[in-house]
Amino acid sequence: MQLKDKVAVITGSAAGIGRQAAVRFASEGARVVVSDLDDAAGAETVAHIRSGGGEAAYCHSDVTRVSDLEALMKFAAETYGGVDIFWHNAGTAGASAPSSGAGYHPGVTEQDWDQQMNVHLKAGFFGARLAVEQMLARGGGSILFTSSAAALKPPVGNAPAYPIAKHGLILLTKMMAVDLARHNIRVNAICPASIRTAMIEGLLADETTKGIVDGLVQQMPMGRILEMDEVANCATFLVSDQASALTGTVLPIDGGRTSL
Ligand code: NAD
Repeated sequence: MQLKDKVAVITGSAAGIGRQAAVRFASEGARVVVSDLDDAAGAETVAHIRSGGGEAAYCHSDVTRVSDLEALMKFAAETYGGVDIFWHNAGTAGASAPSSGAGYHPGVTEQDWDQQMNVHLKAGFFGARLAVEQMLARGGGSILFTSSAAALKPPVGNAPAYPIAKHGLILLTKMMAVDLARHNIRVNAICPASIRTAMIEGLLADETTKGIVDGLVQQMPMGRILEMDEVANCATFLVSDQASALTGTVLPIDGGRTSL
């Protein structure tokens, strides 16, 4: 039980990596606040955790709205007494807008740019700041950001907003880590690459898109897609007391991808 009695708030935990980690955190003894835009899937995640004997509650939160983040922290305080672990994991890949070369990404819209900055970076800053208020009152805590391998090794020729926003999270991690180190609040980031979520499963299920996954596999020195459980393992360690010496750590979970 690595997270016994800890209260963990995870954004974007109705699906994918966040959902897998919510289930894992609960199995490690945490009381988990599941939060997302997708209320039906969020409720399903909570039901799944409870059916396994774990403790969880759902709170709708659009992380791009600071008022929603405030309501999320209030919910955690009222439901479980405060926040020990805050993981900003919610995210979207954004629209694809390949470089045209001379025109340099003419397809990037203002709306997509703002969306990427808001869902990853703005939400990370304001969410973590709100969580810190509660952590200071509790004598410490642990913050985790989901960045991306794309922030460490940007995909050349692809739309820039996603990797730039994710890179911003790495800087935020380091700045907050130093600022909060004397307050017993640790701040770390993970940088996943090519994780088997519903999106990858969808590509694999279709003969016309299967090749996209083959292309991803070729970029992985391990020669395979990584599993959500492998991300949940790393996240559990980073937010737990086992990682008490780690802050400002930016951990690639990429099967060697960014070492190429
Ligand atoms: P996913 O789509 O399966 O899950 C993301 C969740 O975030 C969804 O439940 C979605 O509803 C939620 N979400 C999106 N916008 C939101 C908002 N404004 N407010 C609240 N919730 C919102 O995706 P995933 O692959 O599990 O991705 C999780 C995180 O990991 C993301 O930040 C993503 O950028 C990052 N990531 C994923 C991979 C990968 O290979 N899957 C690689 C690198 C980074």
